[in-house]
Amino acid sequence: MKSGMDKKEAAKECMCASCHTFKDCGELAFCFSKTGRSRGIKIEKSCLCRGCPVHEKMGFRHVFFCTRGGEKKQTTKTERAHFK
Ligand code: SF4
Ligand code: SF4
Repeated sequence: MKSGMDKKEAAKECMCASCHTFKDCGELAFCFSKTGRSRGIKIEKSCLCRGCPVHEKMGFRHVFFCTRGGEKKQTTKTERAHFK
């Protein structure tokens, strides 16, 4: 993963507010979430992350960060499953 952006900067370009899955819970840029998962969003409908400039700039590989956890969290999970 490339660095060069923090959650505050990402929130300015975040597209979540236009997403059907999104519910306003005072948070954006879920991709940077360390704990993962929004407190308010439970149902996955669609995800705009793949078209987001932050996703591209950061070289993220995952989506649905609001329900599945941030990029780091999802990567760790996948890697763990891989190397078992
Ligand atoms: S990748 Fe997704 S969660 Fe991250 S800033 Fe973009 S739209 Fe928001
Ligand atoms: S993380 Fe993806 S699914 Fe969740 S609100 Fe943002 S664009 Fe929509």
